[in-house]
Amino acid sequence: MNQADSEIITSLLQDEGYVVTDVEDSADLVILNTCAVRENAVEKIMNTLDNLKGKRRLRPGLLVGVIGCVPQYYREKMFGMSEGIDFLAGPDTYRQLPLLIENAERGIRGANLAHIPEETYQGIEPSRTGRISAFVPVMRGCNNMCAFCVVPFTRGKERSRSTTSVIDEVERLVEKGYKEITLLGQNVNSYYDGDTGDRFAGLLEKVGIAAKGVRVRFTTSHPKDISESLVRVIAEHENICNAVHLPVQSGSTRMLELMNRGHSREEYLEKIAMIRNSVPGVTISTDLIAGYCGETEEDHCETLRMMEEVRFDFSYMFYYSVRPGTYAAEHLPDDVPEKVKKRRLEEIIALQNRISGELHSAEIGNVVEVLAESESKRSETMLMGRTGTNRVVVFDRNGFLPGDLVQVCIASSTSATLVGTPVSSS
Ligand code: SF4
Repeated sequence: MNQADSEIITSLLQDEGYVVTDVEDSADLVILNTCAVRENAVEKIMNTLDNLKGKRRLRPGLLVGVIGCVPQYYREKMFGMSEGIDFLAGPDTYRQLPLLIENAERGIRGANLAHIPEETYQGIEPSRTGRISAFVPVMRGCNNMCAFCVVPFTRGKERSRSTTSVIDEVERLVEKGYKEITLLGQNVNSYYDGDTGDRFAGLLEKVGIAAKGVRVRFTTSHPKDISESLVRVIAEHENICNAVHLPVQSGSTRMLELMNRGHSREEYLEKIAMIRNSVPGVTISTDLIAGYCGETEEDHCETLRMMEEVRFDFSYMFYYSVRPGTYAAEHLPDDVPEKVKKRRLEEIIALQNRISGELHSAEIGNVVEVLAESESKRSETMLMGRTGTNRVVVFDRNGFLPGDLVQVCIASSTSATLVGTPVSSS
């Protein structure tokens, strides 16, 4: 979402005559677009601001802005955290950046952290960094109040773009030759266009048709909201990728209740069965939190058992850190010792690596279709890409270029990657 926002911000500033530079030392203006989901975000920003201090000495007039969820969360207090901040903006006020920058140039340190409930940045053509894959935000904000999460405080209430504006953007991307489009939202299942009556399944179907022949992905779905109609759309449209990211956070119903996730372990498993029954071969990925408030060894084992049962293709795994202002911070004791959190996280990671390794080695000998994205980091004679099921594949170049769809025979694998050779040359 932040990457998509950065593309919107770049576009807004380019309209005002600003030019992007790849050489940080030549910049007159540095904007840090920040995420507040985890505790270490502020630490990272402070380190970056420290590094920029030296540059400000060498380059008087260099302006630095901090924008996004971290200033929205800490508000004007951020100015007190570092002298090296000239302006602050929250996720709803990027249209005000030119004014904030102009004021900063005149020595006025300003912040605009308003929540603008209707802001979707509809109508701004993002300045895209890639030429193969594009993000298209379809909704912003979140009305769920998961007890551990800052997003409802930083990104505000849910609001959706119109179906027409999304489809127009998708059609422009298809015309420009993009090969993959990812629809984005904190909780895409809450998408709703009051004029057309489209919910997310309807929007996804229209996008699938408008982008025929182009891969379509979406993220993120909430387990309590993913519907049969959405799963049917995935199954019926060949270009809608068979990969679903469905964050579960914990395998214990007791923990899910304390997290206010709105579903039980059993309900989650029913959703997985519904998806797998309709979309054979679908891969499922998830998010997991180790050591949440009150988590016992038994709760943790429930998470491990759920991982064994579902066999997630991959997971984003973290140990719990308190985010001030959330329900959990105010009402639930953070009572799992850090050592225990880290040990549980290690167990979760080890299990995920084992499962991913097993799922990947089952692909050896299969031919998979890969959208080549870039040169591989391993070697310039290899390309890196992804399958429709979102598996990373590294393969011999054989004359192919990024953007090509390549049939690759898988010869070996690790827990993170499939490695293979194209079955033909370009
Ligand atoms: S669904 Fe829950 S975890 Fe996801 S953004 Fe909303 S509040 Fe946060």
